Amino acid sequence: MKEQILKSGHTVLLLDYDGTLAPIAPSPEQSALPSSTRSVLQRLSRNPRVTVALISGRPLADLRQLVGVRNLTYVGNHGLETWHRGRRTSVAVPGRSREALSRLRPTLAGLVKDVPGARLEDKGLSLALHYRLAPTSQVARLKAGIRRAARPFVRSRALSLLNGRKIIEVRPGLNWTKGDAALRLVKRMRGRRLLPICIGDDRTDEDAFGALIDGITIRVGAHRGSKARYYVRNVREVAALLEWIATQLA
Ligand SMILES: [Mg+2]
Repeated sequence: MKEQILKSGHTVLLLDYDGTLAPIAPSPEQSALPSSTRSVLQRLSRNPRVTVALISGRPLADLRQLVGVRNLTYVGNHGLETWHRGRRTSVAVPGRSREALSRLRPTLAGLVKDVPGARLEDKGLSLALHYRLAPTSQVARLKAGIRRAARPFVRSRALSLLNGRKIIEVRPGLNWTKGDAALRLVKRMRGRRLLPICIGDDRTDEDAFGALIDGITIRVGAHRGSKARYYVRNVREVAALLEWIATQLA
């Protein structure tokens, strides 16, 4: 891996946020980026041989605020919206998907109200139901309720459901994943001897690992059947790896 990094003309770091750069917190609001990780991101952002892109399921504005490092590329909502060189772009979401999201929102809010600890997050282009803090005994019923409510919209392909870590996401039925977003970013850079390094901890990151077969792919936490070539144990090892890369390429 070291040789590959040193030989590359330009390194593109594609980094997930929750569970990769920041430890998983009981609720998304409590998640914080360790200050040493922010420093290394700053260092990398100033290196002309490196591009850093954060790719997360969080809404773009939320992600940018949490990380707070200028001159990074930010991709929010699992690839639906991007901040690149000071400009926001978003994937075109069909009107029927937007309409389906707003029709479903009150139903989901009602379901969540009955389950203590569960929460509905409106992410603009998608909705997320968080159940990390909900009693385990009620999770199956909540999930079934969500699936039932979303079924007609999923059938008509206006929406799709995505299961993450203690979260169910209701998204436009676009079939646009983190993998597509990662690939588009890499293609946009068109550089020769470009080396993508992709790090993530969740199943949505697997789409990116699968898309970047020529790059270095790293899963956080061992996971059977992962498409990643390497793995690190935890958030601290990710930070150490970033430090190492920053030093190698300094
Ligand atoms: Mg994650």
